[in-house]
Amino acid sequence: MAIPERPEVLAYVALGANLGDARASVRAAMQDVAALPHTQLVASSSLYRTAPFEATGPDFINAVVAVSTRLNAPELLLNLQHLENGAGRERAYRNAPRTLDLDILLYGEASICSPTLQVPHPRMWQRAFVLVPLAEIAPNQVNAAQLAEVVAQLIERIDLA
Ligand code: ATP
Ligand code: CA
Ligand code: CA
Repeated sequence: MAIPERPEVLAYVALGANLGDARASVRAAMQDVAALPHTQLVASSSLYRTAPFEATGPDFINAVVAVSTRLNAPELLLNLQHLENGAGRERAYRNAPRTLDLDILLYGEASICSPTLQVPHPRMWQRAFVLVPLAEIAPNQVNAAQLAEVVAQLIERIDLA
């Protein structure tokens, strides 16, 4: 059912996984995010492989998708957490290896600072695994100086979009 009174907002969601078949988890999660209620997929990046950053365990598979959604930001977060839980995510400890991590990077032009949701994602500018796939699908959102800040972080494009 449409929510006609709500505007459509362009949001960017980061996907990451480093346990089990991480590539398959991220691919499946891209489809799941695209299938969220009141939400349409606008673009999806290639898949990238990155060494763990401030984290432990196997390499991560990362990607970013753009969606147009009528969900408000807290609703989008709840839906994403539901998908994480469905993928068997356990919050063992901060930055623990995980089967699936879904973060809201940007939600339109919104600036949100609540105890459970900060947008833009406060750590996105320090992370090549976020900025490189984001720049692939939204070059206007990331500038050369921002990419230069993370250029030392190893990241490899593995599956072309
Ligand atoms: P990081 O946020 O540094 O990437 P993380 O993704 O490993 O770390 P989680 O354990 O997945 O952290 O999330 C912890 C909490 O972060 C979530 O319960 C959620 O309420 C909160 N959070 C705040 N802002 C966001 C956001 N933009 N997207 C997703 N979760 C967020
Ligand atoms: Ca994260
Ligand atoms: Ca998260």
